[in-house]
Amino acid sequence: MRQLRHQVAETSQFLHRAGWTANHDGNVTARDGNRYIATPTATSKRLVSERDLIEVDGKGQVHGAGKVFGEIGLHLVVYERRPDVGAVVHAHPPYATAIGCSRGNPIERPFIAEALVSLGPRIPKLPYAQPGDPAKAALAPWCELVDAVILGNHGVLAWGKDCEQALLRLELVEHLAKIAVAAEQLGGIEPLPESAIQPLLAARAKAGIGRAADRAVETASQLLGSPSSGGASSSGGASAQKPVVACAPAPHSPVPTISPGGRREPANLADVVREEIVKALRGS
Ligand SMILES: [Zn+2]
Repeated sequence: MRQLRHQVAETSQFLHRAGWTANHDGNVTARDGNRYIATPTATSKRLVSERDLIEVDGKGQVHGAGKVFGEIGLHLVVYERRPDVGAVVHAHPPYATAIGCSRGNPIERPFIAEALVSLGPRIPKLPYAQPGDPAKAALAPWCELVDAVILGNHGVLAWGKDCEQALLRLELVEHLAKIAVAAEQLGGIEPLPESAIQPLLAARAKAGIGRAADRAVETASQLLGSPSSGGASSSGGASAQKPVVACAPAPHSPVPTISPGGRREPANLADVVREEIVKALRGS
């Protein structure tokens, strides 16, 4: 418990040191059984110490002193849908937020092998949604499919088994965004060749990085289309190329979409995924 509070406070201060928050931006939570340790509202992330942290339940009700931040609903949507997630981090890192506030999404499709292994085959950019229920509804269908999203006209939300992993994912999204902005001046991002995707997804599944990774092949096939109820945006470049596994076409392209909510949960997902990977690698 104490350890958890320490991690949340450390993560909060790191967000500010990294230049990913200004004013009162950003927030961090960590799961502690049925409760969540959260950064307080209206406080610079620079100033958050362990004693400032607050405790909320699954409905966002505060237990004890303090006031919860308005975006707590987004964190709770992730926890609800991802029992494997222990921490959620939100910030406004400048490069990734610039992507969120401009046209297109140059980091949607993988262009660096390590990043694909760490973050999966897609980093979606959600369309702008009003804070509260609309923002939660836009996020919900993505929670099981990916581990980080760019929130349109807003910032980045990333999650992981603990604060460290969630922070690493947010850091990687920002780093990719920085690279993409630099690449713009050199003619733009060149995505990874299609033939590289499947072996990297298999490596991701083998490494067991997050629940989505355990089901890398299944997840990748879902990512061929947007979640049915999410309305997530796709970058313009994606639609110009033939869709392959792990590379998302535009939502309007004629590729069958699997609803994230409509899947059966097999008894042993790891075995199913292993079989699927073997099949995929054989090209059957
Ligand atoms: Zn925000």
